[in-house]
Amino acid sequence: MAYTVPDLPYPYEALEPHISADTMRFHHDKHHQTYVDRANAALEGTGLEDASPREILTRLTEFPPDRRAAVTNNVGGHYNHTLFWDSMTPGGATKPARDGKLAAAIRETFGSFAGCTETIKEAALSQFGSGWAWLVSDGYRVLIVTTSNQDCPISDDLEPLLGIDVWEHAYYLDYENRRADYVDAWLNVVNWDVVEQRYADAPVPDVGDILERLVTVCSKERRFGEVTMEEARQHSTELKALAGWGPMAKVGAVARGWSDLAVNMQKRKAATVAELDPGIVEKAAVELWIVPPERSMV
Ligand code: MN
Repeated sequence: MAYTVPDLPYPYEALEPHISADTMRFHHDKHHQTYVDRANAALEGTGLEDASPREILTRLTEFPPDRRAAVTNNVGGHYNHTLFWDSMTPGGATKPARDGKLAAAIRETFGSFAGCTETIKEAALSQFGSGWAWLVSDGYRVLIVTTSNQDCPISDDLEPLLGIDVWEHAYYLDYENRRADYVDAWLNVVNWDVVEQRYADAPVPDVGDILERLVTVCSKERRFGEVTMEEARQHSTELKALAGWGPMAKVGAVARGWSDLAVNMQKRKAATVAELDPGIVEKAAVELWIVPPERSMV
């Protein structure tokens, strides 16, 4: 069945004064409709017309090169905007429940809720040109990443919890070129209840997924499963040399994680990470922040 633009879950003017009815009307009725029309056209004849946007976005490499950009941009555009409308609400929870799991995950990564919103803003401002800034879950932690155009974190095995659209069409009518003012205003209309529910529903990757994740070890990109004991040890040593440097506050803990991993491999005579028990691999993934490194802001 062809995709359609979902109705807004609130009236166009509901987010004023933060986001005007005019912006919402153009953005939802015109821009989102265009993504939907082009997504339907791009999927026609592929045999995947009935697949959900989520499924498409995890199978982008299966599309022939001459279709892939149109599918990525327009199915991504449809998925991202659907998530965006549902992420906002007039008069919703202004932050996650203090004793909830999301609040705990946010404190773990950012120290505080304010640290999280500041990082979202920093990411939204750092995205050069059109794109998105996202709060995502890698199955263990919350992180902030940016994507260009309509790329979606789902394609990187990251579950989107919250995304801010930083295309100019999202804010130009209200804020002209003042993206920072738009981000501040938008943070007033985030529906944290929905974000909390998405976090509760976020899938936990299985060990096979973790072993496939790309990591940078000793300045080389590797599948996590292919990392050897020597590499883990050497990488730990390199990271220890950076420990204490301001922006790398977590680096000391990560260095210890690599060193523990090397010790585990030696004890168990494992040539690569893939030969370790699943429980050890999962624990290491948590300690080592096994996520696509170039996309992570923390
Ligand atoms: Mn948009």
